[in-house]
Amino acid sequence: MGKHSIDLDVCPCCGYRTGDPTCPVCRWTDDGRADADPEVARGGPNGRLSLADARLNYQIFGTSRPGWRGEGRPPGREDLP
Ligand SMILES: [Zn+2]
Repeated sequence: MGKHSIDLDVCPCCGYRTGDPTCPVCRWTDDGRADADPEVARGGPNGRLSLADARLNYQIFGTSRPGWRGEGRPPGREDLP
């Protein structure tokens, strides 16, 4: 831990380096499969939400799900990749 690992630290949804499995910015939970088949919802922590949809939601609502609007936090300078 503490080692820089770009693949694991950068949220695949919002792109910020939050270093948390459940992103505090967009609330997406990184299931470790990142960008493989972003259109496919795979269950697990993100349920029926696909990464492609989560990214779209983030652009619109600021969180990976519309229902989580307001539960994320604005990204800070320390979150920049
Ligand atoms: Zn995120």
